[in-house]
Amino acid sequence: MAKRALRVAVFGGSFNPIHVGHLIVAEEAAERLGLDRVIFVPAGQPPHKGAEGMAPAAARLEMVRRAIAGNPRFAASDVEVRRPGKSFTVDTLGTLRKRLPAGTELFLVIGEDAAADLPGWREPGRIMELARPVVAAREGAARGAVARLRRMMPRGRGPETVAVRVDVSATDLRSRIASGRSVRYLVPEAARRVIERRGLYREGAR
Ligand code: ATP
Repeated sequence: MAKRALRVAVFGGSFNPIHVGHLIVAEEAAERLGLDRVIFVPAGQPPHKGAEGMAPAAARLEMVRRAIAGNPRFAASDVEVRRPGKSFTVDTLGTLRKRLPAGTELFLVIGEDAAADLPGWREPGRIMELARPVVAAREGAARGAVARLRRMMPRGRGPETVAVRVDVSATDLRSRIASGRSVRYLVPEAARRVIERRGLYREGAR
């Protein structure tokens, strides 16, 4: 009997820090699409975000690794953290595809806000050839991103969607920490301990 092709999603982001929004969206995508694996890929130097307020890549990778530990479907990749220079999704997908068994079906998990930006990323057409987008609903994101991606994709190959809504953003978490407020339950406990131990995001922290 022919073996079913592996179904793997790539979930990129700055994860500065990783929060429950990321985890809930990834779990929902895995369940809804029957994914074998979701690979979290923290960005080394995100091309669309300045270094201001960005925790060191090693710290963001550590938070991701600790936050996903124990979920057999979740994995973390250091492919962007190790790559010198800016990270582009098209390169990351190309690299990961080569490492996965031939025939693997690849997906790209992105929030609705990022989906609205995707047409402006490097080689968006190639990105969508390599991986089918899985767009997660997000508060405050401009409407229409899914329809726009559908128009850019070959007929009959629209983006998948994840409807669960979790109104948490890393920007808000960083400002909570900087002003001494609690992020307990918004950030997975194991990641929160890394933030405390390393003194991340405190006012004046670099
Ligand atoms: P920041 O506030 O610093 O921009 P963020 O909370 O958007 O951070 P990122 O690490 O930049 O987190 O996000 C990685 C990916 O996860 C992006 O595609 C983003 O759209 C998506 N994402 C993050 N938080 C949510 C959420 N609450 N719901 C849906 N998608 C999300």
